[in-house]
Amino acid sequence: MTKNEAEKNGVLLIISGPSGVGKSTICRRLEERLDAFLSVSATTRSPREGEAEGHNYRFMTIGQFEDELERGAFLEYARVYGGHYYGTPIEPVQQALAAGKVVILEIEIEGTIQVMDRYPDAIGVYIMAPTPVEQKNRIVGRKRDSAEAMAERLKMADGEIRYAKDCGAYHHFLVNESVQETVDAVVKIVSEKQQA
Ligand code: ADP
Ligand code: 5GP
Repeated sequence: MTKNEAEKNGVLLIISGPSGVGKSTICRRLEERLDAFLSVSATTRSPREGEAEGHNYRFMTIGQFEDELERGAFLEYARVYGGHYYGTPIEPVQQALAAGKVVILEIEIEGTIQVMDRYPDAIGVYIMAPTPVEQKNRIVGRKRDSAEAMAERLKMADGEIRYAKDCGAYHHFLVNESVQETVDAVVKIVSEKQQA
């Protein structure tokens, strides 16, 4: 069996959305519900308090990231948010797909466009907050970002949503009112894909 034939068994699920809309919360819940493989990205940004190496991210220097990039170790990558690199290590993704798993990538729009080029069957889900005020409350409520980072990320949400709609990489746009309902909606989308 070729690698591509084997990979047909798995489902590649991409979750994106502006900061603070609930992506990480939803991805952790989906990981459990779907017994999925949740990809751990590499990044050159510094770890935040409470973040663990290999769990939230693989933290790298710019030099390490560029070496990995050079040897083709990433399925996709982007340099965004303050000039930091973010990328999806390709090997674990290929292995999980070959094992028939649902593979979840929580990545931004540029990365999604690259993945869709390579895996046109991937499912692109874009998550939004019910209102800008609710998004702000969520970002402030989790007490994670500096005031400048929060302001920057909130300001970017409108443009990001417009770009997500225009770029054609996303098939589903979900408003995350309740975590339970959003997770249920994504599970349904994945089941439909598995049965197609
Ligand atoms: P993201 O990964 O999109 O930046 P998080 O998953 O970190 O967002 O969620 C931001 C905050 O909002 C967290 O404190 C989380 O518990 C909360 N949250 C997530 N989804 C909801 C929801 N549907 N209703 C209320 N709060 C939510
Ligand atoms: P944060 O710095 O808040 O953890 O993440 C910032 C943004 O980077 C989020 O929108 C997240 O989806 C995106 N991101 C995380 N990992 C990756 C990745 O591997 N590739 C891409 N393209 N984006 C990522």
